[in-house]
Amino acid sequence: MPAPLVRVDPTQPEAAAIGEAAAVLSSGGLVAFPTETVYGLGADALDARAVARLFEVKGRPADNPIIVHVASPTDVDALATHVGATARVLIDRFWPGPLTLVLPAAPVVPEVTRGGLPTVAVRMPAHAVALALIAAARRPVAAPSANRSGRPSPTTAQHVLADLGERIDLVLDAGPAPVGVESTVVDVSGTTPVLLRPGGLPLEALQAAVGAVALPAPGAAATARSPGTRYRHYAPRARVVLVEGRPDAGERVAAAVRRLWDEGLRVGAMVTSEGAAGVPAGAVVRVMGPRAAPEVIAANLFAQLRELDEAGLDAIVVEGVAERGLGRAVMDRLRRAAAGAG
Ligand code: AMP
Ligand code: MG
Repeated sequence: MPAPLVRVDPTQPEAAAIGEAAAVLSSGGLVAFPTETVYGLGADALDARAVARLFEVKGRPADNPIIVHVASPTDVDALATHVGATARVLIDRFWPGPLTLVLPAAPVVPEVTRGGLPTVAVRMPAHAVALALIAAARRPVAAPSANRSGRPSPTTAQHVLADLGERIDLVLDAGPAPVGVESTVVDVSGTTPVLLRPGGLPLEALQAAVGAVALPAPGAAATARSPGTRYRHYAPRARVVLVEGRPDAGERVAAAVRRLWDEGLRVGAMVTSEGAAGVPAGAVVRVMGPRAAPEVIAANLFAQLRELDEAGLDAIVVEGVAERGLGRAVMDRLRRAAAGAG
């Protein structure tokens, strides 16, 4: 039987629905809920058994730690042994919001939640439903994205039901998640902040707030610090072909579509408003948004990947975007969706 889906108002969530969901969390259950980034699958972060079930339901590798969500900036002090000056600046400036901070973990955080690391990742989401749920549960909530591991993240309650409906206890539905990509993850456990994953808070905003932010070179050192970045991610069933580079991206998308047609494949395309004109008639097309508005493209990204997948295509050609603002997170997700696809 699929999990019950409970509709809630996105800005003034009904107390009865929140109370019901909080009771599920308190008894060790799993609740999917909206945040401003994507839908999360929540468990009591301090209940090792509940978090272990969360890993199992998602099919998530045990060494990929889960972000702990809090309802107030002061809640971080119970989860971390030390919150340094840079972390305080970032919390003051960007919480609630799509910024996750990696800090030295307090002993209260179970090893399973931390994926075996000595650190814990913490964030305060900017969504009334998420905040009400965490506050009502009166405990921190461990919540990765509410999808099967490796699939595109869910930005609607319907995406959650499609992936995990039979395996979880409750879904709170407040409509589409507004940002559409996951949080930015920054390690502030050392002296210089390190960007572990680009996300919903642009790197430019971080740099404006704290100055230098280290960008680890891709490779072994980076994946050791942020284990999640090692795995194939965000991938639809169809092969994703990413066309990087502008301004001739539109023509290169068209060429890629024709080449795949020649292989006898059913092909779809995701393009910018500017790139749409060049796509040959006959391809299934989704327009992500204008090149100058990467936040629109981010909001559409995962839903369009899922839509094209449902259209039964063999391949999806995607036009790359400039790595500015949310464009950096969009390109990170697209590169991962395309990596090793086949
Ligand atoms: P997800 O919950 O699927 O959005 O992924 C959370 C991301 O944060 C993954 O890339 C994790 O590897 C990363 N993360 C979570 N906790 C930690 C931590 N303690 N240290 C480093 N990275 C972390
Ligand atoms: Mg995820």
